[in-house]
Amino acid sequence: MNRIDPPPPQHKRLAHLALASAEARPERRFAGIAVSAGIAIGPVFGTTEPEAKITHHKIPATDIAAEGARLEAAIIQSRKQLAKLRVRLAVLPEESQAEIAPLIEAYIRMLGPSRLVRGVRRRIEETLLSAETAVMTEAEAIGDAIMAQAEPGLSAEDLAGLQRRADEIKEIARRLVRNLTRAPFRSFAGLPAGAILVSESLRPADAALLDPSRLAGVATEEGGADGHTAVMLRALGVPAVLGAAGLAHAIQLGDVAVVDGISGMVTLNPSPLATAAARRGVTAFARERQKYARLRRLPAQTQDGEVVELQANLELPIELPLIVQSGAVGIGLLRTEFMFMNRETVPDEDTQAESYRGIVEAMHGDPVCIRVLDWGGEKEIEALSAAGIVPEIADANPALGLRGIRLLLRRPELLETQLSAILRASSAGPVRVLLPMVTNVREVRAARELYERVARRLRRRGERIPEKLPPLGIMIETPGAALSADALALEADFFAIGTNDLTAYTLAVDRAEVDVAELYDPIHPAVLRLVQFAVEAALRMRMPVSVCGELAANPRLTPLLLGLGVRSLSMNASAVPRVKQAVRAVEIAACVRFSRRLMEQADPERIKAMVDGFGRNVE
Ligand code: PEP
Ligand code: MG
Repeated sequence: MNRIDPPPPQHKRLAHLALASAEARPERRFAGIAVSAGIAIGPVFGTTEPEAKITHHKIPATDIAAEGARLEAAIIQSRKQLAKLRVRLAVLPEESQAEIAPLIEAYIRMLGPSRLVRGVRRRIEETLLSAETAVMTEAEAIGDAIMAQAEPGLSAEDLAGLQRRADEIKEIARRLVRNLTRAPFRSFAGLPAGAILVSESLRPADAALLDPSRLAGVATEEGGADGHTAVMLRALGVPAVLGAAGLAHAIQLGDVAVVDGISGMVTLNPSPLATAAARRGVTAFARERQKYARLRRLPAQTQDGEVVELQANLELPIELPLIVQSGAVGIGLLRTEFMFMNRETVPDEDTQAESYRGIVEAMHGDPVCIRVLDWGGEKEIEALSAAGIVPEIADANPALGLRGIRLLLRRPELLETQLSAILRASSAGPVRVLLPMVTNVREVRAARELYERVARRLRRRGERIPEKLPPLGIMIETPGAALSADALALEADFFAIGTNDLTAYTLAVDRAEVDVAELYDPIHPAVLRLVQFAVEAALRMRMPVSVCGELAANPRLTPLLLGLGVRSLSMNASAVPRVKQAVRAVEIAACVRFSRRLMEQADPERIKAMVDGFGRNVE
């Protein structure tokens, strides 16, 4: 692969020259995954990492000690490099630091007394493998063991989590092998300002070396939307497309590329027409960004002055920087499943308390609604089956089985530990506790009893917890809960309406089943009537009610939800600006009139048409 020579200071001239020379080459397009929004045009800078060559695989028994010493030296060197990288992070934007720092800590931990290092030593001593071969073999074995947990039916999100863990092991092994074989590392020293970085792959640690102020865009052949590299590039604000097959092998010296981080298309040597379109795209994107940046500071308030609470849903702590950036005022749904996944044992109280506290602190006084574990039969959590807490094999009908609050009340020690951890974290900022999959009042009463018992125990232990316990609310995500909302409102402190499961249970449609995907309709009149019933029950009791399913993220549905009386919405962070714009565009009185008309309809097609018609005004 080629490199463009280091630039003269006037990098704009370089881009211009490259554009001129590329005109002669035919335009080629490569489809990939859009992972970081924005459009970039610039000269291509291709980089590869020279392969680390392993020349000796086996050692005589007499060399075991020497080989162990080589491994030690490589570990020390790797730790030093990572420590340097950690220092280097200080110059990156805060969001990128928040993204990469925990990863570097994880790498450093893996170089300590870890399963990887223990396994490598064993392979050197028992199988007489050279240190580098032992590292490769052990990392591969651990990676395979992690990926073996990917059973059919695993959600894309859980699969991505496993992949990330396997990639972390591979990454640290790669560093050890490069240090053992003295192979050079990739360097971005010659990266011209304003260039598009094209590479087969880009590791998160490499991404940390990039200077976002000098780089126009990134395009790679490997990688996906959920990896650390993707999150890093988003945090750096660099337009990026990953997974563009064949791209890195197609580039030549002097090429120019357009990276479209919105559509996921990379165009090599764009025609004058394509270049002009890309330039228009750059301008439009900059305008849109400015608009959203302005929105971030503006209140979520309707034209007639009604304030709406817009919060974010959080699935993984790595989303925190995006949440802070989005302008969300707090976290309306913290799904704690992440705490339990991808680990061998159930996390203890201290581990959980530390994690929740970190999130509460990061929100700087904005409220965090922590939902206790929502284990559903369809998503295996290895640590729970290993500890015998849940059955290895899910029920025949997992969606209707021992899930959410049902499991927690069956295994109260699990709920007690988690409530204890949440209460400890609540001294760091305003917290609410949310119970998943509630279907009857008994469950709320039992959970509250346990909650109060845990609080008393903590106080006896001398823990600092708020005088008035954080509110204890429930998810309304089954038709049963929605239709008994008036009774549940007497027991719960707040409602969070989960339209994802509510849609699935109301319409008897599996959320993840492609064959019936067409029937999954969150604005089906049956679902909307349940939402309306639950909201009205809450409002009668003057009890807070929010909507935190995907429905809340659709700005076209904002007028309807406001019209029904909802004043609190929680959604994925990236949807917050668009929903805020919708809130700011409407008047409550008009929303009420619209929702009344809409709720009279029974035909899903008609409802859709009305939503699209009204929604166009708010975008
Ligand atoms: C829901 O069901 O709408 C919800 C928000 O919970 P989850 O998506 O985590 O099941
Ligand atoms: Mg749910």
